[in-house]
Amino acid sequence: MRVSGGVSNLSFSFRGNDRVREAIHSAFLYHAIKAGLDMGIVNAGQLAVYEDIPKDLLELVEDIIFDRRPDATERLVEFAKNVSGAGAKREVDLTWREGTVEQRLAYAVLHGEVEFIEADAEEARQKFGAGLLVIEGPLMDGMKVVGDLFGAGKMFLPQVVKSARAMKRAVAYLEPFMQAEKKASGSVSVRGKLVTATVKGDVHDIGKNIVGVVLQCNNYEVIDLGVMVPATKILETAKREGADIIGLSGLITPSLDEMCHVAGEMEREGLSLPLLIGGATTSRVHTAVKIHPHYRRGQTVYVTDASRAVGVVSQLMSQQVRGAYVSEVREEYAKIAAAHARGEENKRRLSLKDARRNALKLDWANYVPPTPSFLGTRVFTDYSIAELIDYIDWSPFFSTWELTGKFPAILDDEKYGAAARSLYDDAGTMLGQIVKENWFRAAAVVGFWPANSSGDDIVVQSDGGQVLHTLRQQLSRREGRANVALADFVAPRGTDDYIGAFVVTAGIGEDVIADRFKHANDDYSSIMVKALADRLAEAFAERMHQRVRRELWGYAGDETLSTRELVEEKYRGIRPAPGYPAQPDHTEKATLFALTDGERIGVKLTESYAMWPGASVCGLYFSHPEAHYFGIGKIERDQVEDYAARKGWSVSEAERWLAPVLNYDPLSVARVAAE
Ligand code: SAH
Repeated sequence: MRVSGGVSNLSFSFRGNDRVREAIHSAFLYHAIKAGLDMGIVNAGQLAVYEDIPKDLLELVEDIIFDRRPDATERLVEFAKNVSGAGAKREVDLTWREGTVEQRLAYAVLHGEVEFIEADAEEARQKFGAGLLVIEGPLMDGMKVVGDLFGAGKMFLPQVVKSARAMKRAVAYLEPFMQAEKKASGSVSVRGKLVTATVKGDVHDIGKNIVGVVLQCNNYEVIDLGVMVPATKILETAKREGADIIGLSGLITPSLDEMCHVAGEMEREGLSLPLLIGGATTSRVHTAVKIHPHYRRGQTVYVTDASRAVGVVSQLMSQQVRGAYVSEVREEYAKIAAAHARGEENKRRLSLKDARRNALKLDWANYVPPTPSFLGTRVFTDYSIAELIDYIDWSPFFSTWELTGKFPAILDDEKYGAAARSLYDDAGTMLGQIVKENWFRAAAVVGFWPANSSGDDIVVQSDGGQVLHTLRQQLSRREGRANVALADFVAPRGTDDYIGAFVVTAGIGEDVIADRFKHANDDYSSIMVKALADRLAEAFAERMHQRVRRELWGYAGDETLSTRELVEEKYRGIRPAPGYPAQPDHTEKATLFALTDGERIGVKLTESYAMWPGASVCGLYFSHPEAHYFGIGKIERDQVEDYAARKGWSVSEAERWLAPVLNYDPLSVARVAAE
């Protein structure tokens, strides 16, 4: 028996560092030949003389070859930095580079490797004779495997988005050649065309961007109109481009209304193409009950998440199954609507009067509210992003990428662990860059004012004399449980109490960076940078709240909670945000911004009261030990009328802003009134 082998594999991870590579080759050959190696394949010009290898380097190299110590790798990597002077190379397995160009392209797409993608695309182009053949051959074959594995739950979203990046980079490289080849070979055939948009007044687009990438991987053309897109633009584009499907996305509740509007406009203009609905506040029930009835000519379909999008789109695009699929969806939506109507009748609420009688009554006579360290506002510009990293709640980051589970356990999850670890590594690397290269800036404004409750409102002693309006739970509570409103947490007149408010952003400049990645065909990094900016904004809210408790309001000076305890809300006091369950009315942000002059720090409110940049958070501060997060639940028309009067709105205006929490259908109430 003879033994032979390729020697250079041994040192692949030190490419670019010839001194280390040559030392590894020589030392290996020296020992391997003694141990019986008959033939070694090696670049003969790249061989040092064994005896000439410096003794310190030789020791490290032989530690590696003989696996003599557990830290051998780290020590050589460390040493190599100094030897080459160039940046350290990650240790990577490059054996896949030895395959044919087709195999290499398939591997690169499957693993999302971009380092050699252009070189391989070029090599394949020369071999195949045309760019189009490379795309329709090895690249699409690779993407098909990705699609199948994703569909089978064997690949996860971050990996798919990385695969798409490799594919896009190769296509971008080949495109100029294809322009020249066009006459000869035609163009890539797509399976269908979608127009997607985040609706008017809304700014969030991570989910929509992910869906776009996944659909592109599956050979659909996606025309993404971005965020804050009015209905007219969506419809015009769809008509002009001859789109097959429209996709709408939204994060905040006012967008639900805007989606109904878009659906109505599609009906009015006689369109019949399918309408897809997705995003954080959307749901199957809302789609079935509220959006679908506006658009009878075409079909509205709710899409739970990115992994479902391809299935839905391919059924809608297929001549054979489309009809059956649409009837199935219609049947399902009819059932949902019927169940919804039945459910509503059953859940009668307390009258507002009775709910108020059962308000939370705190013992103000035996309580002295803490006094803030200052009154009015304080601005924090250019806040250290590095300081915020420790405050990040990572679990929502993983769910953005559809890896659901609690951090840090998810890193060891049997199913998701490997994908989660790789994603977490990439996030860590990017966070390092964000901090080091000042990718974007963070700023905050925090304020405190004397304030007292007055019924369900909070009267603030500020220059503008603002009044914060709150809503009260109307569900019938068990004995001993109150029907809470946020106003209950503030003392009525007669006791000196205070309220705080804040706006924080970690996203100034975020969109520029995200766009830059997008234009470089790097959706993975573009989505990653937005996801991280969102996390940093929440972390900033967490950090400022801690500072408020410890020093700025100062009622918990000795608090020492871990990040996990902060995430679990173990602290005293709350920071409820308008648009969330305790105060679902987004328009209260206008009052909050007037109080804090929040626009000073670079945050704006859209017409739907979404904050721009998206990586921003605002809320109120309540200090009372009994203050807690809760949900308003559904409310009755008596409260809506009362609230409308307090806000200076008409009842129908109130019904529009409070649509998601109404315990009745305003249309049927109006019908009854008219009869
Ligand atoms: N740690 C999580 C926080 C998510 S909740 C994260 O990083 O994503 C985000 C914010 O919503 C809270 O900080 C609080 O301001 C607000 N919030 C949570 N529950 C609420 C409720 N029931 N009512 C009003 N606001 C709430």
